[in-house]
Amino acid sequence: MKGESPVNIDQNRRKIGFLGLGIMGSAIAQNLLKGGFEVTVWNRSPEKCEPLAEIGAHVVRSPCEAVERSFLTFAMLADPAAAESMLFNPDGAIREDGVLNGLSDEKGYIDLSTVDPATSRKVGAAVSARGARFLEAPVSGSKKPAEEGNLVILSAGDESLHQDALPCFEKMGKKIFYLGTLGNGARMKLIVNMVMGEMMIGLCEGLGLAQAAGLEQEDFLNVLDSGALANAMFRLKGPQIGAGQFSPAFPLKHMQKDLRLTLALADEIGLSLPSAAIANECFKKARQLGSSNEDFSAVYKSLV
Ligand code: NAP
Repeated sequence: MKGESPVNIDQNRRKIGFLGLGIMGSAIAQNLLKGGFEVTVWNRSPEKCEPLAEIGAHVVRSPCEAVERSFLTFAMLADPAAAESMLFNPDGAIREDGVLNGLSDEKGYIDLSTVDPATSRKVGAAVSARGARFLEAPVSGSKKPAEEGNLVILSAGDESLHQDALPCFEKMGKKIFYLGTLGNGARMKLIVNMVMGEMMIGLCEGLGLAQAAGLEQEDFLNVLDSGALANAMFRLKGPQIGAGQFSPAFPLKHMQKDLRLTLALADEIGLSLPSAAIANECFKKARQLGSSNEDFSAVYKSLV
C-alpha cells in the first residue's frame, strides 16, 4: 500500500469528496477508496457513479452534498468552464447546490483539473471568501498512471491544505511537487502539455513520412527507441498509432484545450511560441475532422 496508512489519520480527515468521474477522476477516486478513505462521489452524468458505488463509494446528488460530507473534496473536470460550474451558474451567480454552499472553516477544496491560472485564482478567491482553503493540483500522467497511482502531482496554493492532502496525494501519485503560489501548478501543467503535444505531432509526422518513404513504421519506432529520443510516450503511442488504435486515454479535445490555454498564457507574457501555435492548429484540425473524443494520438489521421 502506498504512503501513510489512512488508519493513522483522524476519522474525520478520512472523509473525502470527489467531483467528476471521467477517465481520470474514476481511476483516482478508485485508488482513494482502495487506500482506505471514505469517498463520496458526484458526477454530472450519474451513471458514472455506479462502478464506484459497487466498491463502496457513497453517491450524492450535488457537489454541495459531497462537500458537506467531506473534510477534503477533490474535483477532476474537463476544462475551465466545467471547473467554474462547480461553484457558479452560467450567469456568474453562486450555484445553490454547488461547492461554496457546502464549505466552511478548515475544509479544503482541491481542483485536479487542467485549467488556466486565472480560473484557479477565481475559484481560490471564492473558496477563501467562505473561510475554507483551496489548492490547485493538476496532474501529469494519463489513464494508466492514474489507475496505478503513478501520477505526478503539481500542487500550488494553500500550503496547510497541501500538507493535509498528502495522504491522498500519496495514493494517487508517485511524485508530488509543491510549487508555491496559486497559478504555478496550472502554469507548470500547461507548459508540460505543450511539450507533449508538440512531441506527438513530431512522432505522427515521423510515422507518416517513414511509411510514405517505403520504410516499416515498426523499424522507425525501434530506431527511435534505441537512442536519445527513446521515451515512454513514443513507446506506448507509436505502436497504437501504427495499428490505428485511438481509443481515448487522453481525449484529443483536452489536448487542444491545453494548447489553447498555453498560447493564452504566452500571449499574456508576450512570448512568441510558433511551434505550439502550429501544434494547436493541428489539433484543431483533428477536432474539425471528428476526432475530439478519440485519443490525442488521433491527430495522426489529420496529418498524413
Ligand atoms: P473526461 O473523461 O472527458 O471527463 C471529464 C469530466 O468532466 C467528466 O466527469 C464530465 O462529466 C465532467 N464535465 C465536463 N463538462 C462538465 C460540465 N459542464 N459540468 C459538470 N461536469 C462536467 O476527461 P479526463 O480525461 O478525465 O480529464 C479530466 C481533466 O484532467 C481535464 O482537465 C484533462 O485535461 C486533465 N487530464 C487528463 C489526462 C488524461 O490523460 N486523460 C491527464 C492529465 C490531466 P460527464 O461524465 O457528465 O460528461
